[in-house]
Amino acid sequence: MGTIGDWLAGKGAARTSGTLRVGSMASGAPLNLPWLAVRGARPGRTLWLHGQVHGDEINGIVASLRFLRGLDADAMAGNVVVTPTGNPQALDARRKRNPYDELDLDQSYPGSAQGLPTERLAHAMFSEMRGVASMVVSLHTMNPLFDAPPYAVYKVHPDSPVSEADVLGAIAHFRPTLACRQDVGGKGELPGNIAGALDYQCLAAGISAFMVELGRGNAFQPENVALAENGFRGLAQHLGIVEGSPRATGVALRTVSRRGWITAEEGGMFVPRVRAGALVRSGESLGDVYGMDGSVTPVPPFTRDGILIGLRGDPVVHTGERLAFVAWEWADRLPIA
Ligand SMILES: [Zn+2]
Repeated sequence: MGTIGDWLAGKGAARTSGTLRVGSMASGAPLNLPWLAVRGARPGRTLWLHGQVHGDEINGIVASLRFLRGLDADAMAGNVVVTPTGNPQALDARRKRNPYDELDLDQSYPGSAQGLPTERLAHAMFSEMRGVASMVVSLHTMNPLFDAPPYAVYKVHPDSPVSEADVLGAIAHFRPTLACRQDVGGKGELPGNIAGALDYQCLAAGISAFMVELGRGNAFQPENVALAENGFRGLAQHLGIVEGSPRATGVALRTVSRRGWITAEEGGMFVPRVRAGALVRSGESLGDVYGMDGSVTPVPPFTRDGILIGLRGDPVVHTGERLAFVAWEWADRLPIA
């Protein structure tokens, strides 16, 4: 077991923080992963909140740190671990990817002890979670150019003991607008190695896991942080770590089985007619692109209904850049107890 698991295996209510050493910078500055934990008075399960994978996604860091501060170890059965950032070099640089290798951390798990910087960070973190975490919440946001109401993303691993119903039951505590089932290794709504996502590798290791997307990047959004803290509390109750009954019982979820991007035909200033989260009907347009020659070009109308998972908030757009992230197929599910 790793450093964190060893500490959790100790006896009695306690609270601590520390760092996992990954290496060092040329200047001699340490390359560390920070961690914090609260160990309950009685043994139980371990809820692990991973505040950040991508370096420009902030709300999850604040939410997990705040939630941990409010816990009472003496009243807990089990543990809560917070790893506020898995990508410290990207966080310090205020960008999504690690500037030293340009890899996407969420395509790099379970990582490699002899690899590139991002692969080493992934390995150091994942080695600590394996065999220790009962449930991992991987916190994200959309990128800083987009607005989005909070939503969840999950994957299904064919060999995992954790079922889709288990994961949806956990997600319900966040009351997200949508719960998007992301295809792994299939048609590929996003480029890259989706199987390298932290939540997918957790499922492979028998740990329940999913992602929560908390709005916009490079921002502190108090309503989204509060939503996350309420979700963490419900999950801690659901796992029997914290006393009380979770409020999510009876929450219906809208699950999404197909998503896609709308990209711009021509550059200009994108002025939307709709808001993030809205249902856009077939025949409706997202908005207009104002050209520098005075022209106004409507975005081609939808040919079927879609729900706007995220909408571009930064109007500056070039040909091929993303205007909206759209749910194309969805279903309303009754809650899973
Ligand atoms: Zn992310």
